[in-house]
Amino acid sequence: MGRAEELIQKCESELAPVFAKMDDIAYKNEAKVLCAFKNNRIALRHFAPTTGYGYGDEGRDTLGAVFADIFGAEAALVSPNLVSGTHALTVGLFGLLFAGDTLFSVSGDPYDTLCDVIGGSGIGSLADYGVRFKKCDLKEDGGFDYRAIREGLCDPSVKVVFLQRSRGYAWRDAISEKQIAEVCAFVRECGFEGCIFVDNCYGEFVEETEPTQNGADVCVGSLNKNPGGGIAPTGGYIVGKRCYIDTIAGRMTAPSIGAEVGSYAYGYRLFYQGVFMAPHVVAQAVKGSLLIGKVLQACGFTTSPSADKLPYDITRAVRFNTKEELCAFIQAVQEASPVDSFVTLEPWDMPGYTDQVIMAAGCFVQGASIELSADAPIRPPYTAYFQGGLTYEHCKYALFAILKKLNADG
Ligand SMILES: *Cc1c(COP(=O)(O)O)cnc(C)c1O
Repeated sequence: MGRAEELIQKCESELAPVFAKMDDIAYKNEAKVLCAFKNNRIALRHFAPTTGYGYGDEGRDTLGAVFADIFGAEAALVSPNLVSGTHALTVGLFGLLFAGDTLFSVSGDPYDTLCDVIGGSGIGSLADYGVRFKKCDLKEDGGFDYRAIREGLCDPSVKVVFLQRSRGYAWRDAISEKQIAEVCAFVRECGFEGCIFVDNCYGEFVEETEPTQNGADVCVGSLNKNPGGGIAPTGGYIVGKRCYIDTIAGRMTAPSIGAEVGSYAYGYRLFYQGVFMAPHVVAQAVKGSLLIGKVLQACGFTTSPSADKLPYDITRAVRFNTKEELCAFIQAVQEASPVDSFVTLEPWDMPGYTDQVIMAAGCFVQGASIELSADAPIRPPYTAYFQGGLTYEHCKYALFAILKKLNADG
């Protein structure tokens, strides 16, 4: 047995108890999904294509009802017309905030692609429409800054309290459902009566509950990530209290028609099948991330979150010593991908980024980051971010390629 094989086997056996916990979470989430399918009496007719306005589109409406059930919420918009997570978040925020209102983030800076949505100038941002933004950062230890939150909430113009569950591109742990429950309760104790809004990207099905089951009013995510199960062809979702979902629906289409229109000529099977697969696929991605994290840690690299316990989202960061190691890691992920494995990646100047970026995305669904994918800005500390993996086996296969490329396979 080679050194790499021995190391992987050792790490796998050490991870067995953590893997068992993840399997249990996947089981509970699958039960939740199946319950939602059963409650809504899903049948073949729900997968049928529709055209034109889509009045009375049962596939669309029932898909929303299924998501609402899974998330323990009253209503949901689930649609291929929400083109990405960023779009779904944008529709949600624009639906809820009016001129003079304030959006208050209690988890620091929102995800990169939301910065222009919130604060851009002259591009139709929330700021351009008279919506103010303020934030308080998480504390050093990743916890909420409760004093700053209480102070921030004294301002009666705060209408939406925002928090981002996943780590994004920050070196911090994702926020746990326990933390979310605590902060939601605290925000209510402070007398806040507006909407608690969660960017749920990368968090779905990682734990047994979702933010809407722990005090959040609305949560939003991308079907190119966890809840699409690697099968949904595109789309986003917005789930939560009916009063909020109704106004957001007015923004998604037009205030006069809301969620009563919208067709999909390819039919909805892949969305249903995707969310059916999602709890299992998410568990595969989490286990793959833990294995890659643990093995690279054993090889002397620093990685976050901890590779010894269950994480709160599907993403992982790894720090390398040099640009060469960083690029080798990303290239190895690409070369071990099912699609475009023959491509040799190079860093490039990507619009909107100050540093060059290198990206691996050998995916079936373009850019789907529930599939094994990785990217990194080229700057010290050389940090690669990766996520996904439709199967544990693919993650393990990629790990062999990574070790080989890093010359860490002995
Ligand atoms: C990916 C992501 C987004 C944006 O989703 P896209 O589908 O890439 O537009 C927003 N927030 C977080 C935390 C994300 O991980």
